This record gives sequence, structure tokens and C-alpha cells, in this order.
Amino acid sequence: FWFNLLKGSNLNVVTRFAPSPTGYLHIGGARTAIFNYLFAKKHSGKYLVRIEDTDKKRSSKEAIEAIHKGLNWLNVNSEHEIVYQSQNFNSHIKVAYELLEKGFAYKCFLNSDELDKLRLKSREIGIPIKSPWRNKKEIDTHKNKKFVIRLKMPVEGTTTIDDIVQGKVTVKNEILDDMVILRSDNTPTYMLSSVVDDNDMGITHIIRGDDHFNNAFRQIQIIKYLNWNIPYYAHIPLIHGTDGTKLSKRHGATSVFDYNDLGYTSEAMFSYLLQLGWSAKNDEDYCIDRAIKLFNLEKVSKSPAKFDLKKLNNINAKNLNSMKVNDVYKLVIDRFKLSLNDKEQKRFKSLLPELLKRVQTYTDLEFEFDWLFQEDFFCKDKNYQLQLKKSNLVLKEIGSLLKEIEWNIENIKKCLNKYILENSLTFKDIGPILRISLTGKTNSPDLVSIIYELGCTITVNRLNYKY
Ligand code: GLU
Repeated sequence: FWFNLLKGSNLNVVTRFAPSPTGYLHIGGARTAIFNYLFAKKHSGKYLVRIEDTDKKRSSKEAIEAIHKGLNWLNVNSEHEIVYQSQNFNSHIKVAYELLEKGFAYKCFLNSDELDKLRLKSREIGIPIKSPWRNKKEIDTHKNKKFVIRLKMPVEGTTTIDDIVQGKVTVKNEILDDMVILRSDNTPTYMLSSVVDDNDMGITHIIRGDDHFNNAFRQIQIIKYLNWNIPYYAHIPLIHGTDGTKLSKRHGATSVFDYNDLGYTSEAMFSYLLQLGWSAKNDEDYCIDRAIKLFNLEKVSKSPAKFDLKKLNNINAKNLNSMKVNDVYKLVIDRFKLSLNDKEQKRFKSLLPELLKRVQTYTDLEFEFDWLFQEDFFCKDKNYQLQLKKSNLVLKEIGSLLKEIEWNIENIKKCLNKYILENSLTFKDIGPILRISLTGKTNSPDLVSIIYELGCTITVNRLNYKY
């Protein structure tokens, strides 16, 4: 039965990604979104996005836009209407009063001094906060005073959550604090809003970071008091850096969209994030459709995943090499706002598959632009310049031979071989220096292709350059 439920066959699965719009979409959030998206899609369910903008001071429009930009880039935005938590305030407030009326919550009139004292005392004796107002009747003297509404947590017994990732965990109810659900300015807290929205939105599976696992034991009390359906929980371990500490800016970019700026493809990022904490058989290439088929929550690891840039780089390099040349070409042209003439376009596209074998991100291609597109290119490296000077004559001779041939790959090959033979050389004697002369590097695509694509005039000019 449990298995069937997990598989979603008995249930119309509804998941949600619920970011707080206080900054960009970070790596961890993006992974949570992907897991929620895939789980819903796998079970032909609904995947919803809820912007938890209840903290008006910390939320911003820019952050909401940044979150959507990140989700759109990864192709995991919701096709349903986006829910803005702040628009549901009235319904949250109503629930707070319903809990109050039913005796599951109480008004607490402590002023801030009294609360500070209570906090101190609670800490000293190691018990969670329970206000003295828990057991007091509201008295006339407090009629017009400010109050908050606290949930009356059960004090006896235990609460168990059978978390899909964390397993079955039981806590004693005595450790639960009487959390505030409605503030004195009549605004609901996250702890209340989130539960009410999940219920109103019909969420069946709550998939989120395990920094919320403690909250689940407190939030579930509201659900139980109101006899709502208890959702399935899956609390995913957070992402760490390779040094084992929680992922932070120290480890590099933490905003998912920054990886777009750095030259990673959305497909590679998606593939990598999916594998952060979800173990699949050493298989690194996941397009969305394949991921939907294979994804399951049972394979989410219980220990924190490590964000490993090397692995991301590998996946990105693989992805770039598997893409259609025209698609990579478009990415690069757009990114660098290149306007190329027909010859340059053809040259770039022909050499692109070879160039891609040598980069990890497509922005790395920028370092090839000089020799690819500058007509008057010459090598600027001082050490190479010395070598080129020494080989001046050889390069010139090869240049004059190339000048005479009809320009095609076969003839270029023949020409180079003839020169080698006639001068009792090997390809090693001329290959590297030719390459430096034409590209300024020792590592570049196949020499004959370069010569062919640069064309006769450019090639000969470069070979004749006076260093
Ligand atoms: N808004 C919360 C956060 O960004 C998530 C709450 C939830 O998923 O229940 O951490």
C-alpha cells in the first residue's frame, strides 16, 4: 500500500516549490524545485510554485524575478498559476482564530520584557517556551492589550513522521514550543501560513530541505488539530561544498543563474543538480524526459550531497559536445554579441566541434576568438615569438608551397607531407610551430583543418609574419 502511494498510483500527486523571495535562486533551492517538478511529472501530478513573501521587509520584486529567471532557465517553472503567500493572509488569520476557538491555541499577552525573562528561564531549565497564558482565561484587564496567538502544543505523548528520505523519526511532544502563529500586528507567521497554504493547495508531498525537518514536527500539530490530510514528507539533506561545510559563497557561485553567465548550459546544470543527492547509476546525462522516467524519492541520499565543480564541468563539457553545432554556435554568438561575416561563420562552425573538445564551458571559447577571427593576428607570447623567429625560414617555405596549391584538405595534407619528406623531417618538426604561428597556442584543433578553414591568404600571411 505504502509503495503504491509513493508511486502515486492511488493519489493525485501535488507538489510545490516554496521559495522565500529574499535573494536569487540558489543551488539548493533549484535542486528542491527540480525534485518537486520531477516527482509530480513522474506521477502525472501537479507541480506548483508558491512565493513565500510573507516577510515584507525581506522580500523583493527583484528576488521574485530572479527566482523565476532561474526556474525558467532550468525549465522547471510551474505551468499553473503562481501562488503568492501574502495574498492568502486572510485565510491564514481565519485558521489562527479557528484554532483559538477550538481551544488548540491561546492568546498570549506577554510584553517583551516578560517574554525575554521567559526565554531565559526556558533556556536555563531546558524546556521549550510555554507561556503562562496557556492556562489562563482571558481577563477583562487585558481586553485592549496587544497579544500574539500561540499554538497549544501537546505536552504528552510523541509525534512520529515517516519521512520518505529521513525514515521514521519520533520526538517527544514535550520538546515542542508553543509557537506563535499570529503576531501582535495580526500577521500570520511562516509556520502557520505554510501549513494553511499547503492544505488549501492540496499538496500531497512536501519535498524540501532538511533544515525544515524540525518545523515539520511542529507544523503537523496544526494539521492534526484541524483533521486535515497529513502530507507525505521528504526532507532532503542540504548541499555542502567539497570541504564538507555548508555550501556558501566561499565555494564559488551559489546563484543558479550565475552558472548561465559562466557558460554552463541549462541541460548540464539540470543534470548535475539532479544528481546532487539523488543517486543514479553513474549515468551523467539526463534530459528532462529521461529524468522524469527515472526519478524517485527512495534513491535520495540521507547524507549531504557535495557540490563538486569538477563533476559539473565534466557534465557540461559532455553536454556541449553532444549538442548540435548550430545550437552551441547560437549560444556563443548571443553571449559575446559576435557579428561574423559568412566566411567567419563557416570557419567557426567547422572548427567548433574540435574546439569544444578543449573547453569546459562555452564562455571559454572566448580565448579562441583572436586567432579565429582577427585577420591581422600574430602570436603575442614572448617565448613563442622566439621559437617562431628561429623557425622563420621553415614557415616561409611552407607558406610559399601552400600558396601554389588548389585549396582543399587533400592538397594541404600532401603539401605538408612533401615538405617533410624533402627535408628529411617528421611531422613533429613542423606541426607544433605551424600551430603556434597560426593560433598562438600549442593546443588547438587539427592542423590541416585549421589551415583549410583559415584559407590561403590568412594562412600564408601568418606564416610570413616577421617576429
Ligand atoms: N520558504 C521556505 C524556504 O525558502 C520553504 C518552506 C517550505 O518548503 O515549507 O526555506
